[in-house]
Amino acid sequence: MTLRLHDTASGRKEEFCPLEPGVVRLYTCGPTVWNTPHIGNYRTFLFFDLLRRHLAVRGYRLRHVMNITDVDDRIIEQAHTAGVGIDAYTRPYREAFFEDLDALRAQRAEHYPLATEHVPEMVRLIARLLDRGYAYEAEDGVYFRIASFPAYGRLSRLDRSGLRPGARVATDRYEKESATDFALWKRAQPIDEQVGAAWDAPFGRGRPGWHIECSAMAMAYLGETLDIHAGGVDLLFPHHENEVAQSEAATGERFVRFWLHSEHVSDSTGEKMSKSVGNIVTLRDLTAAGYDPLAVRLFLMGNAHYRSRLRLTEEALHAAAEQVRRLQDLADRLRGLEPGLRSDDAALYADALDARDAYLEALDDDLNLPAGLGHVFEVVRRANAALDAGRVGPAGREALLHLLETVDAHLDVLRRRDVELDDELRGLIAEREQARRARDFARADRIRDQLRDRGIVLEDTRQGVRWRRVER
Ligand code: AMP
Ligand code: ZN
Repeated sequence: MTLRLHDTASGRKEEFCPLEPGVVRLYTCGPTVWNTPHIGNYRTFLFFDLLRRHLAVRGYRLRHVMNITDVDDRIIEQAHTAGVGIDAYTRPYREAFFEDLDALRAQRAEHYPLATEHVPEMVRLIARLLDRGYAYEAEDGVYFRIASFPAYGRLSRLDRSGLRPGARVATDRYEKESATDFALWKRAQPIDEQVGAAWDAPFGRGRPGWHIECSAMAMAYLGETLDIHAGGVDLLFPHHENEVAQSEAATGERFVRFWLHSEHVSDSTGEKMSKSVGNIVTLRDLTAAGYDPLAVRLFLMGNAHYRSRLRLTEEALHAAAEQVRRLQDLADRLRGLEPGLRSDDAALYADALDARDAYLEALDDDLNLPAGLGHVFEVVRRANAALDAGRVGPAGREALLHLLETVDAHLDVLRRRDVELDDELRGLIAEREQARRARDFARADRIRDQLRDRGIVLEDTRQGVRWRRVER
């Protein structure tokens, strides 16, 4: 089996093979920690997780770097408004980011470099570009000269006649219309000094532009050539185009072998989720509404192929929660089965093996998780029916558990979350127990309903009362 990935540069699926056998050098653009990331951002980060996990399934060791942009125009403005330094301003967002990643079970990258901790590398890279004539000093900073790099625009398929070499743009984020020289270094303004966002450099005190951060950190950790660079599709231009220009101009080597871009999350009306539109939904919004983060994880990862837009709707979230539940329940049923006592449904056994192959084949085909899950849920349905009919024996049990394990290498939803109940909820459960012992069933039922409203369902078993969390 060969793994094929869609490379934005060639516009085709290409067979993937790393430069150094067995090891993948992966760089992914991480968050700009100026506010709380939204579900759209996490789709991108869970796409990175899917990629990581599948590379590991295929036997590769990973060297994965995800940067954290903790200095940029917006951070400086916000910190200034809040009257604090950028470090103090970004810290809570950085912490919230890692909490969310954990809740969503994204595997950790090997490195999460902070931009502010790698300014010397950026300064050296800019000095090299100045030396080689690819950059020049202007009044307000140092700029990259796009006219000096003939391949500028190739990655994002810019029409070169639309380039405006010599014209300059200082801002980090801009549209295709302004394919102009861009800032590598911005001379320190009073506001930068006030929030602690200024560093010394041979070409004047200032701060790095956003694009140079990624080139410098990627090369510092992974060398001059990366196997895979991934990010959200909105980063293709100008961010990734500029990364290629800066990096290749400095080293003369190819910067990236595979470019992977994932599509956006949109709201239920189809509009891209973004802070500026005002239609963002955060993970906290969803958990507060009673959704299990694992359902959110499955929705973001498996509801649509990563190169298609994903629309956030309640129905889709409910369906994902249901899928998580079905996988967990089937795993429980199979684990609890005494297979020796039953005979096998031979067709189901064969289908479980086939579904596993089909699942992995779908993942090898540019990480097509939704197609893979289609094969799996077909077998899940049949397995439940066979279990009901007492027709799952030792071989079937093994094959089905093996299938679930294979799927879980990517999804990671079988391990149930240890949800801690807060003291108040625990108190309510105890109160209901007391009411029951006192045979005050009306009161016990009222408390049960109260808990139900808070998303906790009680089950009375022979071992005592058990609770589980459900969607409200
Ligand atoms: P930022 O923090 O703005 O730099 O974005 C972090 C990552 O989230 C980038 O890779 C963006 O492409 C991605 N992103 C931003 N908005 C969305 C969205 N609505 N859907 C999916 N990804 C997004
Ligand atoms: Zn980047």
